[in-house]
Amino acid sequence: MKFGGTSVGSAERMKEVARLIVDKERKIVVLSAMAGTTNSLVDIANYLYKKNHDGANEVISRLERLYNNEVEALFSTAEYKEKGHALVLSHFDYIKSFTKDVFTVFEEKSILAQGELLSTALMNFYLNEQGYNSMLLPALDFMRTNKNGEPDSPFIKENLNTFLDENKGYDLFITQGYICRNAFGEIDNLQRGGSDYSASLIGAAISASEIQIWTDIDGMHNNDPRYVENTRSISHLSFDEAAELAYFGAKILHPTSVLPAKLGNIPVRLLNTLDPKAKGTLISAEESHAGIAAVAAKDGITAIRIKSGRMLLAYGFLRQIFEIFESYKTPIDMITTSEVGVSVTIDSDKHLEDIVDSIRKFGTVEVDRDQVIVCVVGHLVRDNKGYANKIFEALKEIPVRMISYGGSDHNISLLVASDHKKDALRALSAKLF
Ligand code: ADP
Ligand code: ASP
Ligand code: MG
Repeated sequence: MKFGGTSVGSAERMKEVARLIVDKERKIVVLSAMAGTTNSLVDIANYLYKKNHDGANEVISRLERLYNNEVEALFSTAEYKEKGHALVLSHFDYIKSFTKDVFTVFEEKSILAQGELLSTALMNFYLNEQGYNSMLLPALDFMRTNKNGEPDSPFIKENLNTFLDENKGYDLFITQGYICRNAFGEIDNLQRGGSDYSASLIGAAISASEIQIWTDIDGMHNNDPRYVENTRSISHLSFDEAAELAYFGAKILHPTSVLPAKLGNIPVRLLNTLDPKAKGTLISAEESHAGIAAVAAKDGITAIRIKSGRMLLAYGFLRQIFEIFESYKTPIDMITTSEVGVSVTIDSDKHLEDIVDSIRKFGTVEVDRDQVIVCVVGHLVRDNKGYANKIFEALKEIPVRMISYGGSDHNISLLVASDHKKDALRALSAKLF
């Protein structure tokens, strides 16, 4: 069971979570940092990079005060209030220690880890105060990435299961989402929003009967509720549909979090802490009914078009282009081709200049920044008619830069300028649902 930032965002919310996890079933509970904490830790790190110690200290003091208030509200006994304050003090002393020294990416990762370490330790104290026999399961002891920055599944599986075997007397384990160690043993993380990924990696490692992602909404909606009104919760999605939605911007799930569950064939349930009885969304291997299920959008996309006379009749052209992206470790999201050119999109412009320089030897290059991939997902059975027609009809007033269909039976993607994102999402909802 994974609970996100809002679900543990205050002492009151933490008590709600405690009520949801204390049945008799043996389980691992994965917690995010309290809502807003990781953002504040990012702010602190940014100040420290710039050697702005006053800026950093101000955020640190504000956050420390907030945690001390939560301690007062969470615990009812003097003994646990004292334990809670001591815990907060030790973590904030640690954060403050970085205001004195050199600041590198290693120190940054250590600071970013403090949110999940705090929320889990507080929850475990609270459960103990309430008389439950829960145990902290330190993510830094088993969650690890390999030299490619990918989760080291064999390591995770072996170390996690050993820990569980050594603690057979416990049924309720509380662990940190998001944080891990890298191949060199340094503190690292699974990227922003990565607690979902922690949960599915853990679920897969222990062959869990189910992975539950508890958040602040009643499951995956058919469009982004932050931009579109009257969206609806979807009762069932296949792993592939959920993966497409997560990858293409449905924030409720971290982009890579579906894969471990799919590989282990472990159903994932998206549930709402604010309304625990709501049915939510079940994600499983079962194909859903034919049709369009949902729309999502992925921001921050750059489109690159390469036009080349040499593409005519040439084989190996795409390979050469792709190799350039590979050499800069930059994944391509969308691709469309014509006889005289190819367009691709990337979501990281870290190496954009180098990539463009390298591609120039193949032809003329055009770059469009600030694009958005709008992605329509469903069980788009090939011989059904009319999906594309409905989508184009909906987007008839919006300039479309790229269209991609046929890569899988689950996805039609369109690239539009970010200025048109909201209109595109709303028009699609109006036409499709
Ligand atoms: P948590 O902190 O629990 O991980 P997130 O904020 O990461 O929660 O994800 C939940 C949020 O995702 C929702 O509050 C909602 O605003 C947003 N969201 C975006 N797209 C969707 C979607 N298609 N369905 C449901 N929620 C979505
Ligand atoms: N606390 C981390 C973040 O805010 C991880 C997560 O919540 O999933 O990104
Ligand atoms: Mg999240």
